[in-house]
Amino acid sequence: MRKLQMVDLKSQYEKIKDTVNASIQEVLDTNTYINGPQVQKFQKSLEDYLGVKHVIPCANGTDALQIAMMGLGLEPGDEVITADFTFAATVEVIALLRLTPVLVDVEMDNMNISIEAIKKAITPKTKAIVPVHLFGRAANMDAIMDIAKEHNLYVIEDNAQAIGADFTGRDGAKRKVGTIGHVGATSFFPSKNLGCYGDGGAIFTNDDDLAHTLRGIVNHGMYVRYHHDVVGVNSRLDSVQAAVLNAKLPFLDLYNEARQNAARKYSKGFEGHKNIITPVIPDECDWHVFHQYTLRIIDANRDALMDHLQAKGIPCAIYYPIPLHSQKAYLDSRYKEEDFPVTNQLVKEVISLPMHTELDDEQISFIVDSVLEFFK
Ligand SMILES: *Cc1c(COP(=O)(O)O)cnc(C)c1O
Repeated sequence: MRKLQMVDLKSQYEKIKDTVNASIQEVLDTNTYINGPQVQKFQKSLEDYLGVKHVIPCANGTDALQIAMMGLGLEPGDEVITADFTFAATVEVIALLRLTPVLVDVEMDNMNISIEAIKKAITPKTKAIVPVHLFGRAANMDAIMDIAKEHNLYVIEDNAQAIGADFTGRDGAKRKVGTIGHVGATSFFPSKNLGCYGDGGAIFTNDDDLAHTLRGIVNHGMYVRYHHDVVGVNSRLDSVQAAVLNAKLPFLDLYNEARQNAARKYSKGFEGHKNIITPVIPDECDWHVFHQYTLRIIDANRDALMDHLQAKGIPCAIYYPIPLHSQKAYLDSRYKEEDFPVTNQLVKEVISLPMHTELDDEQISFIVDSVLEFFK
């Protein structure tokens, strides 16, 4: 059996090596390291893939979120509602811009931001909602867009874990997540569903004016060379990373299907087990791209299971071990523990198994058997 890894980028690279190498070589041959033709090509290809009017490439997913918020003109004191159960980058940029993060609980079945909790958290100062499509599963965008419309709020989608996932709205239209709100942000960190070989990110929007604003912000607030109209940042996707992404984007759907297939096999193996809750796989699996395959372990010792798996050479991880509202940097006297029953429970129950595009049946069977063995 091949060595088990949380993410197997090496085996994936072996299969596309010639394409990736040729694409990188082109950058070296043309000496266009910043904003070269590869970056423009990637921007266009990603716009086509996502069906969105504008893609603005940038340096990483955290920058993408920050720049999106800067572009919307949010101001210190504005309240931004986001999920308590996510990677810290989401709340970090809100705090960094001196906006006021308002963390709210998530829903047990899909682990995404709770619609009821959003409604309860809205005040006259609320300006935006940041849903995170956690682990590759789309948040309930119909409900979120309804709330946003009613209260005149911006929606900034954190799509770092769900690129390629579809959301079928109640109008029957299928849209790529990240393109449904006013603006979406994603990351091309190597382990993400579409990963480059370093850092990378992008912002998406269908709004022409916002796209123009964002293009200036990523480049020191310049719209005309050496004229700085707004305070910007330096956040670029470099040409080498764009070259890697150009080679990999054509495989994204196949990669997401490979993740979904692995997820189905895992879930079949765990079916009906009294201590294991598998992720909800929606019909047709069209809105979950399994950035992570995350189980809930109930009435059993999750940490002991983790030790058991690690002893057998199976990597696994706890995403996420601490709710954001309990993190030192984001403590706020307004938060009450009873407002976060789901996150407080999830941090004790979740465990993520290896999930990537190269998992084979032998590996999945071994992992499933090893998990089941723990409960015997
Ligand atoms: C990875 C990630 C980010 C940040 O992306 P970077 O490219 O690492 O800056 C933001 N939000 C979520 C939910 C993520 O998983």
